Amino acid sequence: MPSMAIVSRLRRGDLFFSRLRRQLAAAVAACPFTSSAAHDAGTGVSGPHLPVLIVGAGPVGLVLSMLLTKFGIKCAVLEKSLSFSRHPQAHFINNRSMEIFRKLDGLAEEIESSQPPVDLWRKFIYCTSLSGSILGSVDHMQPEDFEKVNSPVCVAHLSQYKLVNLLLKKLEKLGMHVYRHDPSDDWEPDSPLEKRILMGHECTSIQPTNEGVIVTARVHNGTTLEERRLHCSILIASDGARSTIRRLVGVEMKGERGLQELISVHFMSMDLGNFLLKNRPGMLFFVFNQDAIGVLVAHHLEQGEFVLQIPYYPPQQNYQDFSPQACEKIISKLVGWALQDVQVLDIKPWVMHAEVAEKYLTCNNRVILVGDAAHRFPPAGGFGMNTGIQDVHNIAWKIFYFLKEVASSSVLQTYESERRPIAISNTNLSVENFKAAMSVPSALGLDPTVANSVHRAINTGLGSIIPKNMQKAVLEGIFSVGRAQLSDYVLNEKNPVGVMRLEKLKRIFAEGKSLQLQFPAHDLGFCYKEGALVADTSENTQYCNRAGSGRVSREYIPTGRPGSRLPHMHVKPFTAASTEETLSTLDLVSGDKPEFLLIIAPLKASYHIARVILTKAEELRVLLKVCIVWPHCSCQSRSTGSRAELEPWKNYIDVEECKKDRSWWDMCCLTNKGVLLVRPDEHIAWRTESDRVADAVSEAEKVLSRVLGL
Ligand SMILES: Cc1cc2nc3c(=O)[nH]c(=O)nc-3n(C[C@H](O)[C@H](O)[C@H](O)COP(=O)(O)OP(=O)(O)OC[C@H]3O[C@@H](n4cnc5c(N)ncnc54)[C@H](O)[C@@H]3O)c2cc1C
Repeated sequence: MPSMAIVSRLRRGDLFFSRLRRQLAAAVAACPFTSSAAHDAGTGVSGPHLPVLIVGAGPVGLVLSMLLTKFGIKCAVLEKSLSFSRHPQAHFINNRSMEIFRKLDGLAEEIESSQPPVDLWRKFIYCTSLSGSILGSVDHMQPEDFEKVNSPVCVAHLSQYKLVNLLLKKLEKLGMHVYRHDPSDDWEPDSPLEKRILMGHECTSIQPTNEGVIVTARVHNGTTLEERRLHCSILIASDGARSTIRRLVGVEMKGERGLQELISVHFMSMDLGNFLLKNRPGMLFFVFNQDAIGVLVAHHLEQGEFVLQIPYYPPQQNYQDFSPQACEKIISKLVGWALQDVQVLDIKPWVMHAEVAEKYLTCNNRVILVGDAAHRFPPAGGFGMNTGIQDVHNIAWKIFYFLKEVASSSVLQTYESERRPIAISNTNLSVENFKAAMSVPSALGLDPTVANSVHRAINTGLGSIIPKNMQKAVLEGIFSVGRAQLSDYVLNEKNPVGVMRLEKLKRIFAEGKSLQLQFPAHDLGFCYKEGALVADTSENTQYCNRAGSGRVSREYIPTGRPGSRLPHMHVKPFTAASTEETLSTLDLVSGDKPEFLLIIAPLKASYHIARVILTKAEELRVLLKVCIVWPHCSCQSRSTGSRAELEPWKNYIDVEECKKDRSWWDMCCLTNKGVLLVRPDEHIAWRTESDRVADAVSEAEKVLSRVLGL
């Protein structure tokens, strides 16, 4: 039975809604999880119907819950664990994620004040031990990062669990509460679910219905176990790399599996922190010596917090071989002396994959995969969490307009057509970065691909003939022969082999061929080719597309091309009280509501287009603001601005360019006749030049219909 909301929509007889009805019926019939019992909405379902249910309270699920809550969309989060993970995992927050966080009630500023000073993490250091010789050191910050040329905010370095804690505080301020299923809690089955992060709730099955999805959660509080069924319109799978929901809906991952297995050791040592702080501060330390090899991530030198990544070769090596005592020994071998204050907090095995889900939406767009549930990359380059955060920034406004019955469900599909290619591109980049990271051990005569091939050969060939403990001895024997390449005897300036290898290393570092930290072209320059936008067609390729020149570069080049992120430039509102009061063009897009932004120059033809689009947006119930960019020093226009052209509209802002040497329109590859429509996620939906628009009314209809999937 369709819900009352859907019935009333269908009664309106609108073409769109009858299409929606057909889509729903077809999808319910086609979906393998549909049972007739599930159609009977309400049976065994606790609590009222929720618009959005998010499964997984990792950083990605929490950011989405914050965006939706700010937009006024009711949602709840289910989390299987009873407490939030303390394993640091991600730590590098890229530029685009920081821009998104900047709009989340000052989260970016809090990250900046919680992270260690940048001089303590801007370098990657390659050494024979943490106290031994330095093979190379690479600084990953450029002067323009601090000058904020391309973005109003910088990249950051903060452990994932600290970021989650900051997010939880922000969510609490928005009225979202963490609920632990504890006998003392006054939970009533019918009490509202929205604005709750329900801990100890593990999603175990789902059933799509006509109206959405019924989710079954196993609820545990450490002692008791019960089951709860919840009903939602849209189910978001943010349940991580081993997503249960992805498995339940039968979505396959495509790509390369098991690139490398590692053991991750989270430990504290103030002695090590102080030593590195004084002698060689950095973010990543790649240590290669005869006794051990590992990558140390300095999460916070001043707090002595580290994670060590050690290559791991099961089944010859067991997880049990990595006891806290064994890990302490490895740490000492990497440090070069026995630390007295090591406190191992957690030891976790993990496998590196390079995979993207074949589909991001299933069950008539009711089940949506985001974050690691949709893609899992090698951490080289730090794209995992960042890509997930950008996924939910993309989907949040689409969910809003779909649930408000302004957009059709096809707007949700554009999430897949926009984000999946980005995940594929970031996967390829992360694999390339992983290979670049391997160039250093290779130059040292330690080819990791050989280690992996030997391991594979033992597993597939020798494994069937020789006993397991002997396999382990063979593997360790081969590894120690490999590590002998790192002995002082080989790696010294008198040994010709050592000289050759050290020279090769120098070249790798000088030419930027080792692992890099920043990828501005991917971080800020990613561009959606198709989706909720009007792509440039062959007729309008007269716009220069510098970013699309096919040049392989890490450089970010601002552009006004549809699908790109709106370029950043400082502008001054006409209402500014002082000359210092400037805004980034990104600030013109609201962070609190899903509002579109139309950017024009103060020209008659552009004002006409603005008035038409404002009228059309109001008719469709789309939030829209207009920004008029005036040339630098438009002092004479300051008192009246665009009033005469745009009254009685109030939702417009007049700003002027701050720099006389660079025009906004030139930066966007347009002339001042340019018109840009920007989506609530700060990506450009449409661009034109006002003198190219013959019929503004039909153009406005066409553009808004395309963007909203009508
Ligand atoms: C060593 C390492 C370093 C990394 N460094 C970086 C970095 O610097 N930058 C970066 O961007 N990324 C990095 N990553 C990747 C990053 O950690 C992940 O991409 C990120 O955790 C993904 O967030 P998520 O919210 O999608 O999933 P997760 O963080 O995995 O969260 C998923 C949540 O869902 C819960 N859950 C799972 N199943 C269920 C269920 N059935 N019901 C209810 N809840 C469930 C889990 O308990 C978990 O809390 C790194 C990863 C590793 C391993």
